[in-house]
Amino acid sequence: MLLQNHIELLTDHAKRNIPNESCAILFGKIENENFIVKDVFLTKNIENSSINFTISNDELITAYGEAEKRKLEVVGIFHSHPDSNAYPSTTDKKYMEINPVPWVIFSNKNKEFKAYIFESEIMPVSLEIR
Ligand SMILES: [Zn+2]
Repeated sequence: MLLQNHIELLTDHAKRNIPNESCAILFGKIENENFIVKDVFLTKNIENSSINFTISNDELITAYGEAEKRKLEVVGIFHSHPDSNAYPSTTDKKYMEINPVPWVIFSNKNKEFKAYIFESEIMPVSLEIR
């Protein structure tokens, strides 16, 4: 579950990073197997690429520290696809296997948000926006 203001923040972040992919870490809580996003931690795509993203180790350490400080968990990973659909790329799928949290993808092309998780295969996650 994402709040409308998270959607606005992420959409804005994705727009500002065009032509490159943007990325962020989603903080929140897991309640009854539902992922509730409480906060968005915007990160830098150090690859400066329109088809891939990488968050630096330094920023990952900062993000996990912040989550702990706010008594939240990392419940998702966000990134945007400037020119393609909101569906995981081959590279995304590889990293999704390593990070089995919901991956939220925003397509600047279709202006839509989708979420997926790796559970022995790529599965769609329903994305509730309040
Ligand atoms: Zn991707």
